[in-house]
Amino acid sequence: MKLDFFPCNLKLRHTWTISGGAGLDAVPTVLARLRDASTVGVGEAPVSFRYSQTADSIQDFLRRVDPRKLSFDDISGSMDYLEKIAPGNHSAKCAVNVALCDGAARGAGQALCDFLGLGFGENQHVTSFSIGLDTADGVRQKTAEASAYPILKLKTGSAEDRDNLAALRQIAPRKTLRVDANEAWATKEEALRNIEWLAKDGHIEFVEQPMPAGTPVEDLVWLKRRSPLPLFADESFHRAQDVAACAPCWHGVNVKLLKAGGVTPACEALKAARQAGLRTMIGCMIETSILISAAAHLANLADHLDIDGNLLITNDPFAGVTAERGIVSFAAAPEKTGLRVQARGADPFS
Ligand SMILES: [Mg+2]
Repeated sequence: MKLDFFPCNLKLRHTWTISGGAGLDAVPTVLARLRDASTVGVGEAPVSFRYSQTADSIQDFLRRVDPRKLSFDDISGSMDYLEKIAPGNHSAKCAVNVALCDGAARGAGQALCDFLGLGFGENQHVTSFSIGLDTADGVRQKTAEASAYPILKLKTGSAEDRDNLAALRQIAPRKTLRVDANEAWATKEEALRNIEWLAKDGHIEFVEQPMPAGTPVEDLVWLKRRSPLPLFADESFHRAQDVAACAPCWHGVNVKLLKAGGVTPACEALKAARQAGLRTMIGCMIETSILISAAAHLANLADHLDIDGNLLITNDPFAGVTAERGIVSFAAAPEKTGLRVQARGADPFS
């Protein structure tokens, strides 16, 4: 087995800003490829400042991986080996896990969703389209550009929240909306005030992560009991082992391949969350079609999808799943097996 990887700078269509972060015009990611004599698989390790996963730390971890200890035939044993190298490093582990899953499914001649026994329903899954923090004018412009998407997600947690929601509603008065506060509201009282204001909109589905990860359980339970809108954990929820702590505090959880460490742990997280009665959502970072397609194969385990990271960039080196009018589809994917992704131009690994 051989492992190749390289960093790649993803250019954003619009400057991307979320609560607590600086505006970004480009975001790095690390692309990875595993291949043996007969099979190849690709993966991706998104960079996340929130989780201290940098392009350098990801590549440092991948340099420590001995690919001879990885096997497309033993994903679980391969993941145990990665765990022995170092704890954490979930983004780098995500890249290896996704490449292993891609190769294993390709080797079996199946699409990843079928290889995992999940299947995939064409025309059944819709992703939201995200609008980052901006001025009211910027939100108006982005809402107009996103007119084809039936569900939007608005980032909040700035002093302009009220102006921004009003601007969005000028362009899309009754469109279904999700709101993501990215840990912005410091106290339960501040969070409840904002959620009660949001509920008056009448078309908001749920609110993601109103308060910081690490907020005491009693404050989260207090808020859940009073919140007029469902609350989804994002920064507070990473993997299956977090389900027990989240179940009393949230209505649902946002599972991401980066946080879980790949496709197989994300599957476990989604299944465990559903078993505990939590609603499930699959989210993403700014990513290429490699990870967005990987996430789409898990759609049957999710009540809501927010897998638009590849729609926010202008130089995606891969093609795979599509989301025209928000409808998540593999119908046009040229590749039939594995992740169902293919390089758009020359193979970036050659
Ligand atoms: Mg979020």
